[in-house]
Amino acid sequence: MKDRNSRKILPPHRRAVLAKVGTTLFATSLKPAFAAGATSGARSLDLRNIHTGEHLSVDYWVNGAYLPDALAAINKILRDFRTGDIQPIAPHLLDMLARLHGKLETSKGFEIISGYRSPATNAALHARSVESGVAVKSLHMQGMGVDIRVPGRPLVLLRNAALTERAGGVGYYPQSDFVHVDIGRVRRW
Ligand SMILES: [Zn+2]
Repeated sequence: MKDRNSRKILPPHRRAVLAKVGTTLFATSLKPAFAAGATSGARSLDLRNIHTGEHLSVDYWVNGAYLPDALAAINKILRDFRTGDIQPIAPHLLDMLARLHGKLETSKGFEIISGYRSPATNAALHARSVESGVAVKSLHMQGMGVDIRVPGRPLVLLRNAALTERAGGVGYYPQSDFVHVDIGRVRRW
């Protein structure tokens, strides 16, 4: 289980992909985030996109390394379902979701209401729903924010657990039945 050599056997092309993701977008996010110096174990996510019905249960970080194929699958299920645009989701956001899930005492995964949003989609949502809090420069457009709920768990419990993370923004939308979380500045609404 604790295979500390797994990074050494990563094929060169996989390393290249991993390095590319890290250097171009999330260089500062590729550190193990759960415990200082943690290099073994696995981080997993269970995601269901309520718009497409797609479901994904995956280990995306194993023994110190993010798995490119798993990140690609996550990026896909979190894509802009309106336009089909797929963009990278910040691994640091995934780590926050994984930690958050660990606090919810449930085997049910996250339902995804909104993941990545293309500029076109975000502008359209903003134009027709000023009051619902769709920001002009939403972190959804940077793969740094997601709207979620968990079947069978009270929304307020999810909100409170997210607030204890102090990892970014937390927006509470009881009318729409979701919580927005992001890894921008720590703030709440
Ligand atoms: Zn949101």
